[in-house]
Amino acid sequence: MNMKAHTSGHWAVAGQQPRIAIIGAGMSGIAAVVKLRKAGYTNLTVFEKADRVGGTWRENHYPGLSCDVASRWYSFSFALNPDWTHRYSYGPEIQAYMEKTADDFGVTGIVRFNTPVTDLRWQAPVWHLTTGSGETLQFDIVIGATGVLHHPVKPDIEGLDTFAGDCFHSARWDDSVSLDGKRVGVIGTGSTAAQIVGKITEQVGQMYVFQRTPQWMVPLPQKTYSRTYRRLMKWFPFLMRLGYRYYFELLVRNFGAATVGDKKKQALISHICRKNLQENVPDPELRKKLTPDYQAACKRLIFCSDFYPAMSRDNAHLITEEIVKVVPEGVVTADGTVHKLDVLVLSTGFDPGAFILPTRVTGEQGIDLRETWDGAPRAHRAVAVPGFPNFWLLEGPTGPVGNLSLITISEHQVDYIISMLDRMKKDRLAAISARAEAAEAYNESMRAAMPDTVWVSGGCTSWYMDKTGMPNLYPFPPKQYLHEMHHPDFAEYHLQQAAQALPAEQVAAVT
Ligand code: NAP
Repeated sequence: MNMKAHTSGHWAVAGQQPRIAIIGAGMSGIAAVVKLRKAGYTNLTVFEKADRVGGTWRENHYPGLSCDVASRWYSFSFALNPDWTHRYSYGPEIQAYMEKTADDFGVTGIVRFNTPVTDLRWQAPVWHLTTGSGETLQFDIVIGATGVLHHPVKPDIEGLDTFAGDCFHSARWDDSVSLDGKRVGVIGTGSTAAQIVGKITEQVGQMYVFQRTPQWMVPLPQKTYSRTYRRLMKWFPFLMRLGYRYYFELLVRNFGAATVGDKKKQALISHICRKNLQENVPDPELRKKLTPDYQAACKRLIFCSDFYPAMSRDNAHLITEEIVKVVPEGVVTADGTVHKLDVLVLSTGFDPGAFILPTRVTGEQGIDLRETWDGAPRAHRAVAVPGFPNFWLLEGPTGPVGNLSLITISEHQVDYIISMLDRMKKDRLAAISARAEAAEAYNESMRAAMPDTVWVSGGCTSWYMDKTGMPNLYPFPPKQYLHEMHHPDFAEYHLQQAAQALPAEQVAAVT
């Protein structure tokens, strides 16, 4: 990594490599390094707050952690993995895959670990990047690869800190706490809670699940891949590529279509969810409590086969009365019951509006990213924010998250960024930034399309919604987004010539 100043003015006019900072060494940061290098951009530095790569797969290590996107598809397109042991991978195997890919592709060596980025300041034509230790470095391009859901939210429940037992958020799982025979409470019934409850109920003494809103679930057709199957994948790699494509099409054509207005597909998903509930929860009383009153896929759909059987066990208790407070002995609900607990797990989700925040990001004319977003983060085509030149986001606001493989989305976004860098190089540009009017038109088209989506019409609230009540998702067919990523419209951007951005003496030096 070379973070020295360019010898003669701006990189694009001096024929040098741009200095690119990538913030985050999770899945999208790894993809960025590999693809940028392949495209010829080699002056890369990755900043990672933790001591290992892996992002969400490093942070989360709760029991039952798995990925509900099929392994064949939840893979880097450039590192398809014949060794997946299951159709849906478990967390430790994905973390090992992230680490191996980062090693194999020479990513690990350019990561500055234990180095959070606290401040980014645009001073044309460079970004000043400050780390947690106070060091300040200059970069031509900054890519925020910090992920979507990574700041755990602790519920605002009276007395939570008074709980006498062990209490932790699902993303901060305390591995030292034994659950054997204990009275365990889980607050929340999202994707995470479903996996945790599905895994540990058999092991604990009593399981108390505090449900505020029931969730729709489809079964997860888990399967172990035999050694022979894995060998076949190794010998005939085209089979992996077929698998990748198969799961991509399956999800995009069915789930993707259902969320953005295909009523037939929506009805099919609803039918699968109802059937799943009917078949796996024999007790009608429990089934009633677990039945949502909104449409399937309005909240992020849960793929899980373990939760319903776990909740049907004798030691499982579904609590639907409102939590009023936590006391040292346990959780008190509105009916006055004290649910006595030894361990309390907060499976209460994440701050969906954080993205690259809390890093302070200051763009042109001193504008602050937090203030610009003001609780409703938006990015042009999910990757660029007007007023923040040469600054790109992976998995940014309105990135089409849903139930798709985020790896695929990140990879396409990196391709888009590469198109921008190529254009800078070709036209000797100092800066590219999204035009405010283009971003507004893009947002307006999304706002107009939102009422047709199940996230809005489905009758629920979810972490998808921002402060304005708009889902932070892409309301068009996912393939359209992927197409957009390969057909950038440069008219949507200010393309700033070096002469406009550089001090006169530097322009003179390079022209
Ligand atoms: P989540 O979906 O936001 O669920 C949080 C849960 O906590 C909800 O049931 C919520 O109830 C409940 N809750 C929050 N505050 C509460 C309070 N004060 N009192 C009572 N209940 C409260 O969070 P998550 O389960 O961690 O999942 C977040 C996202 O991570 C998922 O949607 C998914 O995108 C991703 N994820 C993916 C996988 C995978 O396999 N790919 C696995 C896990 C997570 P309400 O519904 O009433 O708000």
